[in-house]
Amino acid sequence: MLTQTGKSAILIELISIPEEVIMGACPKNRISKLRGRKRRTHYKAAPVALAKCAQCFESKRPHHVCPACGYYGKKVKVLDVEKD
Ligand SMILES: [Zn+2]
Repeated sequence: MLTQTGKSAILIELISIPEEVIMGACPKNRISKLRGRKRRTHYKAAPVALAKCAQCFESKRPHHVCPACGYYGKKVKVLDVEKD
C-alpha cells in the first residue's frame, strides 16, 4: 500500500483490513438531482399512532397522559384538566 498515508496505512499494515473497508464508498457515476429526489419520494414520516384512553375513551397517543381527562392508564391521575 504505497498510496496510503497516516492512520489508514497503519491500519492496513497492522490488522490487514481490506482497502475497500477503509476507503469507503467510491461512486463511479454522479447521481443526478432528479434520480436522488425520485429515490427520496418514498421517505416520509410515519403516521402518529393513536389509542383509546382507558378512562374517557378519547383518542390519545399510546403510553402518554390523556390530554382530555389527565389520566395515565385507568387509575393514575397525573394532570388536572381545565374545562371551559
Ligand atoms: Zn382520557
